[in-house]
Amino acid sequence: MRLLPLFLIELVFRLPFLSRPAFLVDVVSECPAREELRAGMVLVEMRDGYLKWAHLECPKCGDHIQLPLAGKDQWTIKVDFLRRPTLAPSIWERTTCGAHFFLTRGRLDWC
Ligand SMILES: [Zn+2]
Repeated sequence: MRLLPLFLIELVFRLPFLSRPAFLVDVVSECPAREELRAGMVLVEMRDGYLKWAHLECPKCGDHIQLPLAGKDQWTIKVDFLRRPTLAPSIWERTTCGAHFFLTRGRLDWC
């Protein structure tokens, strides 16, 4: 994944005609601790060039949501040049708070 530096993207979204999407992407090399999660960020865990997990703070309850990006029951993530993530399928926290939403180009859509 080739990405522009995050500070640059955050600057771009301060321009008057753009608004920052609900979520942007950053890349991490290890599973983040709960306190390393940031609101409005999807942390993509990559190891040796392979996508492993997507980590984010649940927009409803603040729990640590972990989505596998490899293996059988995986999510797919696309990141555009403005670091806006699209995750498929939808995210549904069935066993916890019940949050059910889509992330599309960084936009959060509740189901
Ligand atoms: Zn939740």
